[in-house]
Amino acid sequence: ALERDDAPQLVVLDWEMPHPDGPEVCRRVRKRGTDRYTYVILLTARNEKADLIAGMNAGADDYLTKPFDAYELEARLRAGIRVLELQNELIATREILRIQASRDPLTGLLNRRAIIEKVTTELHRVRRESRPMGVAIADLDSFKQINDTYGHAAGDAVLVEAARRMRASLRPYDDIGRTGGEEFLILASGCDLACAAGVAERVRAALDRDPMVFNTTTFSVTCSVGVASSAEHPERDVDWLIRAADAALYRAKAAGRNAVREASALDGTEF
Ligand code: GH3
Ligand code: MG
Ligand code: MG
Repeated sequence: ALERDDAPQLVVLDWEMPHPDGPEVCRRVRKRGTDRYTYVILLTARNEKADLIAGMNAGADDYLTKPFDAYELEARLRAGIRVLELQNELIATREILRIQASRDPLTGLLNRRAIIEKVTTELHRVRRESRPMGVAIADLDSFKQINDTYGHAAGDAVLVEAARRMRASLRPYDDIGRTGGEEFLILASGCDLACAAGVAERVRAALDRDPMVFNTTTFSVTCSVGVASSAEHPERDVDWLIRAADAALYRAKAAGRNAVREASALDGTEF
C-alpha cells in the first residue's frame, strides 16, 4: 500500500512485524523520496525504548508505546496531520513558483530563459539520436503601429491571441516561448530546414488566416519568421542556430514581411 502512488500519507507502523519490520518499512518509504511526504508513527512496546533512536534514524517522525492511550494516539495523529498540511502547502507554493519562473505572465508561454533551456536540452538529445532539430524565430509585423494606434492594452490582447494561435498551430511535442516584446522562439524537434520552414509556414498562416477582432476593432496581424536547422550543421550550438534564424528573419522583414525565410550556411556566423 505504501508503494502505490496514492499511498496513505499518515502511517502507524508496528515496530515488531514479520519481515520487513517497522524500521525497514520506514527506510523503504524514505528511500522512495517522492514529493508526497509520508508521516510515520512507530509503535513500540514499553520495554523497547532503547530501539527508539534506531527507529527515528530509520526515518520515523514520532513514536507511541504500547499499549497506547487513545487520547495520546489522537494527539500524535493531529500533530502528524498538521505537518502533512504544512508540507502539502509548501509543495503547492513551490509548484506555483516553478511555473511563474518559467512562464511569460502575459501569454502563458515559456519565457525566454525557459524556451532557450528547452531548445538547448533538446539539441543535446537529438544529437545523441543523430536526428536534426529546427528553430524558428517569429516576430509580429509592424506591431509598434498597433500599440501606437490603439494603445498598449490592445497590443497586449493581440499578443495573447497571437501566442494562442501560434501555440495551437504546433504539434504537441514542439514548443514555443516568448523571447522578447513581440518575438517568439519555436522549437521544431526532428526538423531539417524544409520541415522547420513548414512549421514556420503553419505559424505564419495561423495569424494571416483571419483577422483578430476585439470589441469593435479588427486587427490584421501578421508575422515574419526565420528558420534554421541543425540538420546541415550538426556540430553547431544553440547560439549559432538562433543567430542563423535571426538573420533569416531579417530577410523575411526586408522582403516585405508576412513571410518565412530559411537560414543559409553563413547566417549563424558571428561578425
Ligand atoms: P517589424 O515589423 O519590423 O518587426 O516592426 P515592429 O513595429 O513590430 O517592431 P519594433 O521593434 O519597432 O516594435 C516592437 C514594439 O513592440 C515596440 C513595443 O512598444 C512593443 N511591445 C514590446 N513588448 C510589448 C508588450 O508586452 N505589450 C505591448 N502592448 N507592446 C509591446
Ligand atoms: Mg516586430
Ligand atoms: Mg521585434
